[in-house]
Amino acid sequence: MTTGNDAIVGPVDALESPRFAGPGTFARLPGFDQVSHADVAIVGAPFDISVTYRPGARFGPAHVRQASRMLRPYTPETEKTPFHSQQVVDAGDLSTNPFNIEDSVARMEADAKKLFSRASKFIAIGGDHTVSLPLLRAVHANYGPVSLIHFDAHLDTFDTYYGERYTHGTPFRRATEEGLFVPHSSVHVGVRGPIAGPHNLKEDRELGFSVISAAEFETRTVSEILDQVLDRTGDGPIYISVDVDVLDPAFAPGTGTPEVGGLTSRELMAMLHTLCSDRVVSADVVEVSPPYDQSELTGIAASNIIYAILGGMGS
Ligand code: MN
Ligand code: MN
Repeated sequence: MTTGNDAIVGPVDALESPRFAGPGTFARLPGFDQVSHADVAIVGAPFDISVTYRPGARFGPAHVRQASRMLRPYTPETEKTPFHSQQVVDAGDLSTNPFNIEDSVARMEADAKKLFSRASKFIAIGGDHTVSLPLLRAVHANYGPVSLIHFDAHLDTFDTYYGERYTHGTPFRRATEEGLFVPHSSVHVGVRGPIAGPHNLKEDRELGFSVISAAEFETRTVSEILDQVLDRTGDGPIYISVDVDVLDPAFAPGTGTPEVGGLTSRELMAMLHTLCSDRVVSADVVEVSPPYDQSELTGIAASNIIYAILGGMGS
């Protein structure tokens, strides 16, 4: 982590330029044209041709950047200054091919690997959940196997859809098959809603995941659940993947496959404020579909999720 804050180039100062003006980068951060190396790169993954229901997440990165203009420098809950304790940049978007899923996966993997020559970590803005697979491949090449903390209404460990292996419902099955995770140290949080059958959960268990369902937030405290997640993930590097549909549609309507009965944004922020430490080696926040958003609710939620993860990385 960078120390000696004088050298850090932060976001545009809101007392010099109002938040609705200035660059369209995440939180009005600098780009790589202004710094030579970053501790964390925010990067877009504008890809949505592998969804099973509503499209639109290709517009997620631009929407979340717009909503991120309201992020301020200091978080009282954690006493952190995410943009000033480390060098953060907006690295633009990964390359995709809107007519070819596998070519897009290859392009995103190659670009994410290149990113590690200029940044120690990234937080990617999706994009549908397919993007986690190429991102995890790049993380594995740089850090080795990781433990996954996966916030999502869905398991995303299905095998295929219509015979297709690369979809937004299958990234963590592929990643497990490719050996990208520390075995039996990953966890899904916030899973809920009807599924095809009990075999989905059985196969997920056999792949080495554990599940903390959204319903458990009714009977257990957030701190009890946090203890379980931290116990599960051990001491090694962590990758956090947040599908914004982990939040109840009341808090994040702008997403592709909404499910009722989700987490509140307060519950999710509380978890991230504790879970996110410098052990988090990279992360993604995915499935923001702006055409279905209302009043920027989902964009604002996603930008604050990214900000909470950044705060942990800089601690
Ligand atoms: Mn989901
Ligand atoms: Mn998902």
